[in-house]
Amino acid sequence: MPYRSPSAEIRFILDHVVPLAPVSATELFAEATPETVEAILTEAGRMCDEVIAPTNRDGDLTPAKLENGVVRSSPGFKEAFAAIAEGGWVGMAADPEYGGMGLPQALNVAVNDMLSGANLALQLNPLLTQGQIEALEHHASDELKELYLPKLTSGEWSGTMNLTEPQAGSDVGALRTKAEPNGDGTYAVTGQKIFITWGDNDCVSNVCHLVLARLPDGGAGTKGISLFMVPKLIPDANGNPGVANSLKVVSLEHKLGIHGSPTCVMSFEGATGWLVGEPHKGMAAMFTMMNNARLNVGVQGIGVAEAAYQKALEYAQERVQFTPIIEHADVRRMLATMKADIFAARSVALACAVALDMGRATGEADWSARAALLTPIAKAFGTDMGIWAAGEGVQVHGGMGFIEETGAAQYLRDARITAIYEGTNGIQAMDLVGRKMMDGGKVACALLQEVEDEAKSAREVLPELAEDVWAAAETLREATEEMVTKDMQDRFAGAVPYLKAFARVLGAHFHLRAAIAAGSGSARERLAAVYIRRLLPQYASALVEAQQGADGLYALSVEDLGA
Ligand SMILES: Cc1cc2nc3c(=O)[nH]c(=O)nc-3n(C[C@H](O)[C@H](O)[C@H](O)COP(=O)(O)OP(=O)(O)OC[C@H]3O[C@@H](n4cnc5c(N)ncnc54)[C@H](O)[C@@H]3O)c2cc1C
Repeated sequence: MPYRSPSAEIRFILDHVVPLAPVSATELFAEATPETVEAILTEAGRMCDEVIAPTNRDGDLTPAKLENGVVRSSPGFKEAFAAIAEGGWVGMAADPEYGGMGLPQALNVAVNDMLSGANLALQLNPLLTQGQIEALEHHASDELKELYLPKLTSGEWSGTMNLTEPQAGSDVGALRTKAEPNGDGTYAVTGQKIFITWGDNDCVSNVCHLVLARLPDGGAGTKGISLFMVPKLIPDANGNPGVANSLKVVSLEHKLGIHGSPTCVMSFEGATGWLVGEPHKGMAAMFTMMNNARLNVGVQGIGVAEAAYQKALEYAQERVQFTPIIEHADVRRMLATMKADIFAARSVALACAVALDMGRATGEADWSARAALLTPIAKAFGTDMGIWAAGEGVQVHGGMGFIEETGAAQYLRDARITAIYEGTNGIQAMDLVGRKMMDGGKVACALLQEVEDEAKSAREVLPELAEDVWAAAETLREATEEMVTKDMQDRFAGAVPYLKAFARVLGAHFHLRAAIAAGSGSARERLAAVYIRRLLPQYASALVEAQQGADGLYALSVEDLGA
């Protein structure tokens, strides 16, 4: 059975678990009516199933190639990308003034989930373009907006994000790319960037690079970095692709997965760039793009997990070892926990998107703070879960899972990168316990209090499940109150397990909501029971680890590690 987009599942979540209704009730998103949501999910789902998913294996087997300095994409990708562009899916959440649909991020996330399940390598192209659109909308001059946004929004041009350099990965502040004023308002950008996703491609007529670089008077570290728009082809007087800029793709990386996504080493050799936002404030501008991308990378993990799950479910019904293997308890456990965890991560991602939308539409700081808190959780949980579920998908297949023809292995290889790019999951967890808790844990504790209150009310309907959710939320809230009193090094040492505990509790909260919405004796209730009894308890061991502090880790010296 080929991949089938989970549009009905997403619809259920947006109707009952993380309601979109308050978003649609705002003036900004009034067009996101239930009919529009239904039409979007159905149409995007059909495209993913019929046009995008059939290209997934070709991308894996025939990676993008660099030929005479130009990237040739994998077979079928050009046509599949054209379908995404023509459907208006690149600009779903973009400003209608520049041709976008102006729809909520929650719907964009839903479509990105389906696109990622259909073909992760290809989906990276519109994903990065969407991030670039958002960064330009917020930070670019009107002139740049008018020139670039319509073309990016329509999918005629694509966008990239250029941060990483050989010596500057997580430590972006170590970058060396320079930007010198040309004296005419433009800048000459010089330097090498590595790992640039879709740094060139033949699906579009121009590739627009957002590049972080340092001006001559830019200080050291992240505070001295500025952001530049550096197009592959410089737009002419009519805004059409004109002369070639002084930049090139030096080589493509050979990778574990996402073979269809060209990962480029880029060389900028005095390339003409235009400043985006204010000098030295490039990191703030780039963060607009990165936050969008972080949530949507979390969604990539969910999309791949869904595809891996569907394949495993099908195989488990066909493969007979004494009985169809789906009848064996351990196989049933793998499938049930995969399904339960996909639901949990999907709900967390959609909750983050709804908070973003509410923040934008109402201007209320509480919503934006909630979105900021949920972003690293959505990213790390979605991607860790995606890798785990893709691994379970291989396991359900037994030996056949390790054989490439099955396709199960591709999901595992493709998913692995999602925990690394857009800030590793370690960096996400540090963001959660560091920057996102600068308020003394206020936003986090308010959310956990809501979870507790709702679980308390749910005791009347589902006493046992509700009690477990309530107890977990209370323990996590107390652990949060204690954690914010610790110094940063101790927090960082426990950041990853703390984030896992938080995700576990949120997942249980959404499962409980789903069970109540679907009613007593429903399949949703049975799935919630699987999650709450088998996966939620992991929060407790994660918290034990989170509370250990750093001393024990450093007590084990570098020599003890065998260096
Ligand atoms: C396929 C692919 C596509 C990519 N696409 C892009 C792109 O389009 N644009 C772009 O700019 N970049 C891109 N990247 C780069 C990617 O974002 C980086 O690889 C990532 O941010 C990690 O940086 P690094 O590889 O240098 O690892 P490092 O920073 O060297 O990290 C190595 C390890 O050390 C840990 N670590 C590092 N610093 C700290 C710290 N302060 N505290 C705790 N732990 C730390 C990390 O978590 C990690 O486990 C891509 C990478 C790949 C592989």
